[in-house]
Amino acid sequence: MVLLTVLIDLLVLLLPYEEIRRFGFISFIPLIFCVLRMLSRDRDRREMENDYFVSAAAPFSRALERRRERKYQKKTFRFFVCPVCRQQLRVPRGKGRVEITCPSCGDKFIRKA
Ligand SMILES: [Zn+2]
Repeated sequence: MVLLTVLIDLLVLLLPYEEIRRFGFISFIPLIFCVLRMLSRDRDRREMENDYFVSAAAPFSRALERRRERKYQKKTFRFFVCPVCRQQLRVPRGKGRVEITCPSCGDKFIRKA
């Protein structure tokens, strides 16, 4: 809803000045709806909505989590992609030339870690 408000605001900004004064209030409608939702006492419905949101956002939050984890591991590990099955592989840094065996498909390849 907040994103909808921002989107409407951006669209309204594209209008000429006189039109902004006339249609600027439209972006407040989803915002008021948001505030009413926050003040709602129907906790079961709000919990259901929150569960739906959490499950819908899960793939994105998992991807962000993986990216953050990779950023910290980059100092101690090198990451490679298996040329056969595209599996992501992790090898300790500073080991020189290593033969990497893919645990997924069993393919072996040599890289500098
Ligand atoms: Zn593989």
